[in-house]
Amino acid sequence: MIIKKFKASIGENVNYNQKKFENEVVAILSPKRTKNWGVEFRKVATLKAADFEIILSTPENIKQICWAIDNVRNLSCADIANKVIFINFYRWMHGSNFHHVNMKDYRKYVINHEVLHILGMQHQQCPGPGELAPVLLQQTDTLDGCIFNPEPLDFELDILHNILGIK
Ligand SMILES: [Zn+2]
Repeated sequence: MIIKKFKASIGENVNYNQKKFENEVVAILSPKRTKNWGVEFRKVATLKAADFEIILSTPENIKQICWAIDNVRNLSCADIANKVIFINFYRWMHGSNFHHVNMKDYRKYVINHEVLHILGMQHQQCPGPGELAPVLLQQTDTLDGCIFNPEPLDFELDILHNILGIK
């Protein structure tokens, strides 16, 4: 089992409780939920001890850091080189217009999606109408006929295990 340590932070100008955010991320990445990943996630208190950071950030901040053009779609992003995930605060509070899922599932989706980027994974396509969406489909934008899904599919876990060198 590979251990990955993360720090969860609240970005500038984001009015959200630090402890609440930490607890939500810890729950999403809990060993029970991620047991098939081959990775165990642990929350740490300092950046120095962390493998990556997850920051709840304003759309304006994310636009500056990740997107050269206007981030009108209010996406979250992962800065792979610096191992930082920026979770879009607007989406965290409002979800996506493209599909109506509860906020709990939307938050699960966006954390899983961005953490898998940090672990080295790329975007995936919807395999066909009516099928479950890969968690690495950009589901905030469109489902492409797929059904919303916040968890990695088996084929995505296979890719992850290959990247991590786990058989
Ligand atoms: Zn993505």
